[in-house]
Amino acid sequence: MSGGLGMQGPENFNILEDLAKVLGGAVGASRPVVDNGWRDYSNQVGQTGRTVSPDLYFACGISGSVQHLAGMSSSKCIVAINTDPQANIFAVADYGIVGDVLKIVPILTREFKKLLFS
Ligand SMILES: Cc1cc2nc3c(=O)[nH]c(=O)nc-3n(C[C@H](O)[C@H](O)[C@H](O)COP(=O)(O)OP(=O)(O)OC[C@H]3O[C@@H](n4cnc5c(N)ncnc54)[C@H](O)[C@@H]3O)c2cc1C
Repeated sequence: MSGGLGMQGPENFNILEDLAKVLGGAVGASRPVVDNGWRDYSNQVGQTGRTVSPDLYFACGISGSVQHLAGMSSSKCIVAINTDPQANIFAVADYGIVGDVLKIVPILTREFKKLLFS
């Protein structure tokens, strides 16, 4: 999964780390997140970063620029969470959630935990 500018600050990436831990995944980022110094360059997904192709990719607060899509569009299942229903990421997403990533991600973590570990 990756976080974009919609994560609003480096302090909020812990909610992505929590979800990644439950699902056995890793946390990436969009380029502006890296440019802002919120995450290390090694985390950058896209044309000028890494190309990833996981079974499940969560795009969290990411608009879906062509440069970002270049690094993740071959993922098997793409879930996008964005407050803007017109965001381009929804054009490539298998599942879309229109809403605040800071509220949605903790709910997903809680529900996946219940499903997988109880
Ligand atoms: C030569 C070149 C190479 C590039 N290489 C890369 C690359 O490798 N990787 C890359 O990612 N980009 C790359 N870019 C940058 C790219 O063009 C975009 O600017 C970048 O991908 C946008 O990042 P973003 O989606 O995080 O930010 P934004 O485009 O600003 O999108 C933020 C999104 O967050 C949403 N949002 C805001 N608040 C919330 C909230 N509370 N909850 C949910 N959603 C919210 C907004 O609706 C918006 O859609 C490159 C650009 C150039 C010119």
